Amino acid sequence: MARITSEAWSRPVRRVAFLFAMSAEGMGFADRLGLVDRGDLDPSLPAHWLSGTYPFTDGGSVEVAVGFAGRDPEHRIDRVGTVPATLAAHLLIRRFEPDLLVNAGTCGGFQARGGRVGTIYLGSNAFLFHDRRIPLPGFDEFGVGRIQAGYPKDLLDVMNAEPGVVSTGDSFTPCAEELAFFEAESVHAKEMEAAAIARLAEDHGLAFLAVKGVTDLIDHPEPEQEAFIRNLERVSGALEERLIRLLNWLPSHSRH
Ligand code: SAH
Repeated sequence: MARITSEAWSRPVRRVAFLFAMSAEGMGFADRLGLVDRGDLDPSLPAHWLSGTYPFTDGGSVEVAVGFAGRDPEHRIDRVGTVPATLAAHLLIRRFEPDLLVNAGTCGGFQARGGRVGTIYLGSNAFLFHDRRIPLPGFDEFGVGRIQAGYPKDLLDVMNAEPGVVSTGDSFTPCAEELAFFEAESVHAKEMEAAAIARLAEDHGLAFLAVKGVTDLIDHPEPEQEAFIRNLERVSGALEERLIRLLNWLPSHSRH
């Protein structure tokens, strides 16, 4: 693990914040934990959050917050993508002061690299941006991001997750240049928030995880949009179960 990442993980986790882009991805999890609605994260924005205490079976507990970028009042859909996610995550960090930030949600996967609908990836190696093409010295690498990912290795087994390179961009449908990028960088999970939140977590010196369940396959003939809608509920259920495993693992991590 990189220095900043391992330092962030060396502290015990007493407060964990989850950020979801879509209500359908995260409300089941918040309900299952019995979290209480805390309302808006800012009076001018639709971003909102819930919080509560998750008790461990062997005693002790962890404070949990779940945040959403919220519903766009004009278009009446969830505000997906990097900008609303970063803003909501920043407000949630300020308000809740977590030790660990988790961006959970769905992603497009790649059959060619072993992805199936329902595969759960834990963002590994580095977080990339596939749609920030800035061909100027220095800015080019800033554009791609390459934000270091890191976590205690037992988490993969605990969560029954696959390690995967996660790449972020603000479009759902990929263009030819982005498809070439996914091959060149061996991307496993294509989504719309993780790298932006990873950068923010790094700025705050926070331990960070991206947990992403595959709803659609980029290199499969079925149009991504149709697969996404069909699989969203099922994959969000599987995701919920893995996030509970993550919570149950925290006491053993914090003992080290
Ligand atoms: N069509 C959907 C909305 C899609 S937005 C609907 O009608 O509800 C996609 C959201 O899911 C984003 O938050 C993104 O992070 C994630 N996602 C899932 N599959 C994706 C893919 N193939 N490409 C990009 N983002 C994806």
